[in-house]
Amino acid sequence: MKTVYADNAATTALCPEALEVMVNCLKDNYGNASSMHHSGQAAAEVVLQARQDIADCIGADVNEIYFTSGGTESDNWAITNAARLGAKKGKKHIISTSFEHHAVLHTLMKLEKEGFEVTYLDVHEDGYVRIDEFKKAIKNETCLVTIMFANNEIGTVQPIEEIGAICKEKGIYFHTDAVQVVGHLPVNVKEQNIDMLSFSAHKFHGPKGIGVLYCRKGIPLISFMQGGAQERNKRPGTTNTPAIAATAAALKKSCAEMDKNIAYVSALRDKLIEEIVKVIPRARVNGGRTARLPGNVSFCFEGIEGESLLLYLDLKGICGSSGSACTSGSLDPSHVLLALGLPHEIAHGSLRLSLSEYNTEDEIDYIIEQLPLVVNRLRDMSPVWERIMKGEN
Ligand SMILES: *Cc1c(COP(=O)(O)O)cnc(C)c1O
Repeated sequence: MKTVYADNAATTALCPEALEVMVNCLKDNYGNASSMHHSGQAAAEVVLQARQDIADCIGADVNEIYFTSGGTESDNWAITNAARLGAKKGKKHIISTSFEHHAVLHTLMKLEKEGFEVTYLDVHEDGYVRIDEFKKAIKNETCLVTIMFANNEIGTVQPIEEIGAICKEKGIYFHTDAVQVVGHLPVNVKEQNIDMLSFSAHKFHGPKGIGVLYCRKGIPLISFMQGGAQERNKRPGTTNTPAIAATAAALKKSCAEMDKNIAYVSALRDKLIEEIVKVIPRARVNGGRTARLPGNVSFCFEGIEGESLLLYLDLKGICGSSGSACTSGSLDPSHVLLALGLPHEIAHGSLRLSLSEYNTEDEIDYIIEQLPLVVNRLRDMSPVWERIMKGEN
């Protein structure tokens, strides 16, 4: 059977370059990067070079890069750290959005229980925050703004540089969850006024379980675990040399080929969106089309359940997702789609297809052929769809 992997926002395939350096490290360069002997120092050299390469890719300094276990840890660390710094000055207000990843939202909910106040900006029907509303939300007590660079479910990209400039002017820490962006769109932390930036290797063809926190020089960073002196005393635990080397290899490649990939992947995306809305009635594209991740396609199909749609697509060899991998298993529609103001019954019929440069034009044609068949079949069995067609809904 044909398989089409269209769930790259959940995770990506490892690229050959990352695999190769990873295997080399595991086999030959297995020393502990904190050891004094030559084996340890060889590992330390690999890590230093990787740290430099990664810093170069995002316009940071080598000493502003901290390795973590993934995007989730980076988000938790950055937000908790900035909140602690704010609290010391009596500033306990945070601004975010209603459609952040759960790594951010759940960290904010924990801080709310500890007495912080959080303003969740509306992202409107199109999935973009409004700068005037953001400005109005700022208070004297605001210590942190954390707004995702691009949304993992609907692909909308926020005006990060502008938000960052406002934070800079007001002396407010600015963190952004850039897990969907690094390796896919140009990032320069200095030019884009970013104080803290989270990202994760497995979203750009690197390995899982390794992430990065960029934290601007001058921002005190408090370790939230106790242990050894790794990561300049900020993040204890034996250095994951193979994963770090692979992260750098994958990111270097993604950045070197970025322009080409953006052009290629966004052409596949646009073809898929345009063909599907042409042939499937009552298909809604989620998220605005102006600033959107190159690989993100998100629909709601009225009258059907996203879960059944996924199962049927899977039988055809197509891997997609209904919203985000993190919320699957719960029956509630995704908080992201609800944040757009979609009614529950429409949000239930969601499908996210996320593409990468590994997808081919043939695969897109295959999806365009199969998806309408599957949607029609499910609608034929759906009492909800029958009511919609009778004009009762
Ligand atoms: C995948 C993802 C995360 C979590 O990253 P992990 O490395 O899997 O912990 C956080 N934020 C966004 C936007 C993501 O897409």
